[in-house]
Amino acid sequence: MIPALMPTYNRADLAFERGEGARLWTVDGRRFLDFGAGIATTSLGHSHPHLVKTIAEQAAKVMHVSNLYRVPQAEQLAARHVAASFADSVFFCNSGAEANEGMVKAVRKYHAENGHPERFHMICFEGAFHGRTLAMLSATGNEKYLAGFGPPVQGFEHVPFDNMNAVRAAINSSTAGIMIEPIQGEGGVRPAPIRFLQELRKVCDEYGLLLALDEVQTGMGRSGKLWAHEWAGIEPDVMSSAKGIGGGFPLGAILAKEHVAKHLKPGTHGTTYGGGPLACSAGNAVLDVILAPGFLDGVEKVARYLWNAMESLAANHPAVVERVQGAGLLVGLKLKPEVSNGEMQSAAVAEGLLTVAAGMNVLRLAPPLIITEADVDEAIEMLDRACRRLTPSAAKAAAK
Ligand SMILES: *Cc1c(COP(=O)(O)O)cnc(C)c1O
Repeated sequence: MIPALMPTYNRADLAFERGEGARLWTVDGRRFLDFGAGIATTSLGHSHPHLVKTIAEQAAKVMHVSNLYRVPQAEQLAARHVAASFADSVFFCNSGAEANEGMVKAVRKYHAENGHPERFHMICFEGAFHGRTLAMLSATGNEKYLAGFGPPVQGFEHVPFDNMNAVRAAINSSTAGIMIEPIQGEGGVRPAPIRFLQELRKVCDEYGLLLALDEVQTGMGRSGKLWAHEWAGIEPDVMSSAKGIGGGFPLGAILAKEHVAKHLKPGTHGTTYGGGPLACSAGNAVLDVILAPGFLDGVEKVARYLWNAMESLAANHPAVVERVQGAGLLVGLKLKPEVSNGEMQSAAVAEGLLTVAAGMNVLRLAPPLIITEADVDEAIEMLDRACRRLTPSAAKAAAK
């Protein structure tokens, strides 16, 4: 018989009762170090006192009112994001896929309002992940995810990652923009080289295209800067955010320059829950922490510590680990073909460490931004033991 909870996931047999910082306890009392953070989402760790207090206080006042009225918490959160980023204006929604849908709508509207409704095609990249709605499945372009769901939504073309010739060759009179994750997350923690992002900005300027960044996973301090594109010294025209922006409370956002945002006039886009008092209070609490002086410097510092330790781990386990890739606190362990990331993930769980698998046989670490060097030491010890668990069989398979 089918489970009451629809079986769309292959869930690990772990149920958590409570969390604190980077740690989680199961209902049967086992303790785990959480280097998955609910897939790069619980940016402040579990039960962060400031976030918990803010949500509880706001919930007791007013939770939801709709966008028929002004929402001061949303106005404040938008103003803070504008002050801290390239953006001039922000639209709040509830998830990454919804933010991306709105971002693509904004790009299409921009060209339509400028007299070019035929320019609605986005250039996307092989290995991308943009979400699970019908249009974002097409933007993702993964055949496995698309199968069985009817014809793909029009207007998304895919070219190889980090290939400017392919990008240039794909541009024509119906191209509206380029959509890219600064670091492909689900696709395998694959960073776009800084030079590539800079070239994309240039080609967009050259052809009047909009650069649309999907920073759902890479943003909100995960890379060590508030937004990952800051490392490249470029600005997008429009960007999506979700995951870490609410610290675990559902919140998404479209951040845009005025030339894009001004076309989303009343009635052009909307969402019932989006930008409500509760979610935006959570968003403000997250910003209180992340924008506090020195916090992002601390993320960069602990990330460097983690990277050094991961490089040593990789050097110590050449039969298991091929290389370390990613940026900041989004780190991928690319494994040898003889070891599957699922096996490695299970071995880590057996040692008490939670991680997330990603594409291309990568084991992803996306710890909360509040981790300490001691947390890193503990995680590395667990990964070291997990690698040793796997080494005999890996060595055997390699010898075959
Ligand atoms: C997770 C993710 C999404 C989808 O976000 P949802 O909140 O699951 O809809 C989109 N883009 C990227 C880069 C993501 O990592």
